[in-house]
Amino acid sequence: MKLKHNWNKEEIMSIYNRPLMELIFEAATVHREFHNPSEIQISTLLSIKTGGCPEDCSYCGQAARYHTDIKVQALLPTKTVIEHAKRAKENGSSRFCMAAAWREVRDNKDFDRILEMVKEINNMEMEVCCTLGMLTEKQAERLREAGLHAYNHNLDTSENNYNQIITTRNFNHRINTINNVRKAGITVCSGGIIGLGETVEDRISMLTTLANMDTHPESVPINALARVKGTPLENLPKVNNWDMVRMIATARIIMPKSMVRLSAGRIEMSESEQAWCFMSGANSIFSSEDETLLVTPNPSTYKDLKMLNRLGLSPMK
Ligand code: SF4
Repeated sequence: MKLKHNWNKEEIMSIYNRPLMELIFEAATVHREFHNPSEIQISTLLSIKTGGCPEDCSYCGQAARYHTDIKVQALLPTKTVIEHAKRAKENGSSRFCMAAAWREVRDNKDFDRILEMVKEINNMEMEVCCTLGMLTEKQAERLREAGLHAYNHNLDTSENNYNQIITTRNFNHRINTINNVRKAGITVCSGGIIGLGETVEDRISMLTTLANMDTHPESVPINALARVKGTPLENLPKVNNWDMVRMIATARIIMPKSMVRLSAGRIEMSESEQAWCFMSGANSIFSSEDETLLVTPNPSTYKDLKMLNRLGLSPMK
């Protein structure tokens, strides 16, 4: 099967809307062609600077303008971050992601410290990933020189729906940062969130943008909205798991080589719901010792390892 980069929305919509068992079967078949279906990558995501963000992403508890219970935390000491990375490695993580609640990276001492963290974790032979907001080409180059493997910058939703969810930046800002990351030779981690009140057309449009990039993002996180108290979206309904399965299976079929990450929302999924997601081509999860994914609840690494063991899956080395 060859990779394709000229999908139209109708083709992707017809994949998404296939009878469910047919869709899952095809996604599982494609998954087996490109990946070892018994392996799941465990990634650890650490919030290295939390809350107080000037942006207005309506799903996010870290936006300063919403009244949430999130505690603001300045950039963590380098030593603390490195200790977290070491423990994550001991617990089976092969990828360590650092997240800072910034609108954009500034060329200041905090950025210099992050470059140091990237260097040290890279020396530990883990894939290092960052998500720090918008990035210039020059900043992306500095991160690559420090050894950054991947940069996360989600599309979040479709171009059409974007200003319903975020008004402090636009869809093109997202694309510009992704292009800067790609130009610097860093791998791209980009996906989105469902359950934001979007239509199925919005979901398809977002997947079409990702699948038509010149190089597919190496990692595609599919998130279910984590409803954070105090945010504008706190009262939206829980995402139906079959919608997650359809998104994951469609992403797997149209971007077969990418890692598809079952990301936020796992805390509300049963083990069997997660198993359907793995069957549909998800091959990565975020796990954490402290049972949080940034600022929302997440299963613990201990529980995740037990689940993988029960399902006959093992952590990817
Ligand atoms: S998602 Fe990121 S950019 Fe948006 S408010 Fe939260 S921390 Fe800020």
